[in-house]
Formats: sequence, structure tokens, C-alpha cells
Amino acid sequence: MKREIIKLPIQSFCFGVRNAIDETNRIINNPNTIKPIHMLGEIVHNKYVSEYFENNGVIVHKEGKRIEMINIIENGSVIFTAHGVSSEVINQAIAKKLPYYNTTCPFVKNSIKVIQKYLHDDYIVLYIGSDMHPEVETALSFGDKVKLIQSLDDVNNLTIASDKICVTNQTTMSTYDIAEIVEALKIKYPHLVIMEKVCNAAKERQEMIKNITSKHKNDEATAFIIVGDSNSHNSKKLADIISKYNNNIYFIETVNDLNLPLLDKFNKIYIGSGTSTPRAIIDEVYETLLDNSKIRKPLTLEDYIK
Ligand code: SF4
Repeated sequence: MKREIIKLPIQSFCFGVRNAIDETNRIINNPNTIKPIHMLGEIVHNKYVSEYFENNGVIVHKEGKRIEMINIIENGSVIFTAHGVSSEVINQAIAKKLPYYNTTCPFVKNSIKVIQKYLHDDYIVLYIGSDMHPEVETALSFGDKVKLIQSLDDVNNLTIASDKICVTNQTTMSTYDIAEIVEALKIKYPHLVIMEKVCNAAKERQEMIKNITSKHKNDEATAFIIVGDSNSHNSKKLADIISKYNNNIYFIETVNDLNLPLLDKFNKIYIGSGTSTPRAIIDEVYETLLDNSKIRKPLTLEDYIK
């Protein structure tokens, strides 16, 4: 029987990622941009996209928090990544007279505004997110009235007396995890104001993945591959959703991670990807699964940003 390899309909860069990559290209190609160009973190969570920019002269800072990164920069200009940045970091760039460019995704900007609005109205803001993610770093920079919730255990450990409590979230969280946490919060704090802020791009992929995977619940003949960087939060969430329905889930960064002999036993393989996964990497995985004997041209750094 011929094996079916199916590329899911929504793949590769979302609008926020596309925008951040294109904007960064414009910045580095503008002769008026002051050099050296620093980037606080990877522009989007994909090491190959980041490598393209490093190869084009951008200094990508990868260690520590954004505020620590900007503190060590003495000259040149600075690019803030799609994941957003705190006002503390922006103010530090201004104080150090470093010209800066902000490629924050509009969905992230919007979620930051929600935090600011509710803090201004004297609410305690419960923020559902994953520690160490740059979006969380920005959210927590607003002070101790923002409380990070990563799990149901964190909900159980909460002790808040205020009658003004709002819950919001990192834009790339799983809507299903959020629903579970919000339900638990509502029992504890019935007056909770819910401001769910999963971005449209993450949401539509999660729904697509859930719809397809639920049709293959415990189906031993079907496997799912998610292509994404190990630092890509939204990619990992897609794999998490699949694992609730089917154990045959393989998270890979590139074609080199494919275990072809292991995949041989499946009749059907679905391929999905996160919002920061280059299309060229996904296509390479797809073509290899279709026909591994074909000679493929190695990908270039330019391929990763198309
Ligand atoms: S995943 Fe969502 S929040 Fe992140 S860049 Fe894409 S659209 Fe923006």
C-alpha cells in the first residue's frame, strides 16, 4: 500500500514573523542604519533564520534577559524582536542614545496593552505563560502585581484578597491549556475578568491540529510530525495538543532529525509546523518522506527567510 504524506494546509511563517524578518532586512540594507546592529534575542525563534541575519552582520545576543543584553551594548543600533520588549529596555536604549527598531508583533503589543490597562485600573493581573519566554519577561517587568501562572499547581497556590483580578496570557499559549487554567481560576475567583489573548495565527493552527488529530485518536497507523525550532513555544504547543490524542508525534527541527526506518511503519504521516519554521525546511522534510532517494540541493541561508 502506498503511504500517504500530507502537508497540513497552514504552514510556515505567520504574519508577525514575516513582518519581523522583512523589517529586519530593510534595516540591515539601509545605508543609514548605524553599525554595529545588535539584536536582543533571536528575531523569531528559529536558529536558521537567526543565522541568516548573523551572516549579514547582525550581532545576535542570546544570553540572559533583554535588560542584561542592552546593558552591555555601548554603540551601534538595536533591534527588538517580534516577541516584544519592556519599557524598561526601551528606556535604557534611549538613555544610552542607541537608535532602536521595534519589530514587536501587533498581537504581542496588543496583549501588553491589556496588562497596562488593567494595572492602571488597579487590578492584579494573572498572566498565563511559560517562564523564560521573552513575552513573559516583558509581562513580569510591570512589577509584582503581575503574577505568572504556568500550571494548575500555581492556581492552587494563589492567595489573592483583591476583588479586582484579571487573567490574560502569552500569545502563543495553547487555548486548551488556558481554558483549563481559567476554569480552575473561576472557581477560586468568580469575579475574575478574562482577557484571553492567544493570537489568531497560533489559534488557527491549534484548531486545525486538534480537528485532524482527534480524527486519528489512538490510530496506530498514523503519525504526526511537527517541524519547529526547539525554542519555538507555539511549535511545542502543537506537539502537546497532538500528544493528547495520538502518541505517534515526532517533533523535529530539520530533515536531519527524521528517523526514516521508524516512520516506515505508518500508512499516513501528517506534517505541521510552527509559525517561525521556514517553508524550505518543511518542504525538504515533505520531499524526503515522499522520496528519500532523490538528490536534493542543500538549503542556503537565503532559503530560510523566504
Ligand atoms: S505567533 Fe502570533 S504573536 Fe507570534 S509573531 Fe506570529 S502572529 Fe505574532
